[in-house]
Amino acid sequence: MVGADEGRATMADPPKVPEWRALGRGVRCRCPRCGGRHIVASMFEVKDSCPTCGMHFQREEGYWLGAMALVTAVVVVLFAGIIVAALTLFGDDVPWTGITIVAVLVNVGLPILGYGWAKTTWMGLDYAFNPPTTTEEADAITRMAIDPDAT
Ligand SMILES: [Zn+2]
Repeated sequence: MVGADEGRATMADPPKVPEWRALGRGVRCRCPRCGGRHIVASMFEVKDSCPTCGMHFQREEGYWLGAMALVTAVVVVLFAGIIVAALTLFGDDVPWTGITIVAVLVNVGLPILGYGWAKTTWMGLDYAFNPPTTTEEADAITRMAIDPDAT
């Protein structure tokens, strides 16, 4: 039976965002649900909710630990790449002082400077593999209906 709402998203049937699209939106610092911009409050923080669709970003207590794990994984992979590249390029004559300076900059600077990016990327990753519940979707719709500017 074909209903009048066929093809339209409802609270019971929220729009399905493909995993790769949700992740891509997060990597580009956009809302994983709608792709809306302006979700970053500062270099380290994202807004509480999306100004476009109303989705609440911190889904549970301790939610941002995933972002910390993500930025740590990026640092580890980058640091290992630097060491492997240095050993490959310089052989027995590795400039360890220069490598140490670069390693310190990467291991200290990247977690600080990349934390905001890690948060939006984590949101995209989480949204892709753990889509919002019906309750979270309803909360987003309600939030936008009550006060769309209160994000
Ligand atoms: Zn949104």
